[in-house]
Amino acid sequence: MPSLLNKNRPPVFCPGCGHETVTRALNKAFDNLQLQGSEIVMVSDIGCSGLFDTFFNTHAFHGLHGRALTYATGIKLARPDLTVIVTMGDGGLGIGGAHLLSTCRRNIDLTLLVLNNFNYGMTGGQFSSTTPQDAVVGSGFLNQIEKPMDVGPVVAAAGAGYVSRGSVYDKDLAQVIEKAIRFKGFSVMDLWGVCPGRYTKKNRLTPKSIKEAISALPALTGPVEANCRDEYGVQYRAQASQAPSQEHPFKIEKQFPAPSANRIGVMILGGAGQRIVTGGEILCYAGLTAGLNTAQKNDYPITVLRGHSVSEVILSPDAIGYTGIDIPDVVMVLGPEGVARRRELFASLTADTMVIKASDVPIPECDGKILTVDFQSLKIKAPDRALAALAILAGLNTVISMEMLREALGIRFKEGVLEKALSLVKKASEPGVSP
Ligand code: SF4
Repeated sequence: MPSLLNKNRPPVFCPGCGHETVTRALNKAFDNLQLQGSEIVMVSDIGCSGLFDTFFNTHAFHGLHGRALTYATGIKLARPDLTVIVTMGDGGLGIGGAHLLSTCRRNIDLTLLVLNNFNYGMTGGQFSSTTPQDAVVGSGFLNQIEKPMDVGPVVAAAGAGYVSRGSVYDKDLAQVIEKAIRFKGFSVMDLWGVCPGRYTKKNRLTPKSIKEAISALPALTGPVEANCRDEYGVQYRAQASQAPSQEHPFKIEKQFPAPSANRIGVMILGGAGQRIVTGGEILCYAGLTAGLNTAQKNDYPITVLRGHSVSEVILSPDAIGYTGIDIPDVVMVLGPEGVARRRELFASLTADTMVIKASDVPIPECDGKILTVDFQSLKIKAPDRALAALAILAGLNTVISMEMLREALGIRFKEGVLEKALSLVKKASEPGVSP
């Protein structure tokens, strides 16, 4: 088997770095396993161990701080046929601790190489989750007041099926990695090595002292009997195959011509409880009935029945890439909270912008074409204003037609609610209501 090491990108670690030893041993393990580059995914984390994905001619994914295991989990679930290797330092391991524990609990078939050199090498030698309390590191006294984590027992307690602890200088490192990769479940290898670039400038740590320290600890050499069980992906696929199949999402077919051939941006401004978001949703459904592409963005605080509610809807015959509305074609002003939230918007309106405005909601001066509606005298309550405004729009055959709106309501509502909605639309579109 040809080497999978990337000739164009030889390892670039500091001279004497333990990571380089692991790089070569991992390559040897791939060779022993007769794996092709196309059968392997290298998923790396941050720090110096995060460079690993670039050293191999394999698939690669470079992740973020402590999250490498999450991406690797998704990759392995989607492609169980691939061998997925994760490299992570003791820094990323501490940052992504919850992800580590979750992966242990699942026992998914990944091999995690923890390149443990007891500090954040790349960023200046600060303390990590495994730094001994008596070490001298680049973050002052902080490591002296935190108990370091012993990786092996922690992951074993969390459910990892395979746990080993060893030195990167072990002569049989390639065979040990190979054994971990062969294990059908989550394998965690706590590999101790030296970081001459940072850690050993002020701390004594050598291959010999690493060997002595590991020998003094309980041996961790492979499968954890209590945690051996079916691999997560195997269980997942078995369960999923028994689950009732999902109904296909319903499809809205094009039935009507759209009143406009252009991309249209509509902003609905109101307050909580005014069904602003529902109004935006109905507008999207209406657009779909004319074969338009639609996008909806909503803005409201986490509070219930209090505060602003704004919905921004785009209807377009073309695919919608940019989902922002710089200058809207239509603004529906239905409540003062929404106006306060988008106050600066009004200065940008042009004479082409239609503003459907509730008579009891003041707005800043603007150049838009204002259509004032007295919802109160029409006895249209606040929660019905959004739908009534849509009916006015449809009555003017602008943006949507009446047939598009009625069809959208039939999609969104059923029975009594639909009847009420249709009767409101009728009322709001009667002559004399639309200004
Ligand atoms: S800083 Fe430390 S871990 Fe990083 S490459 Fe240098 S020796 Fe290796």
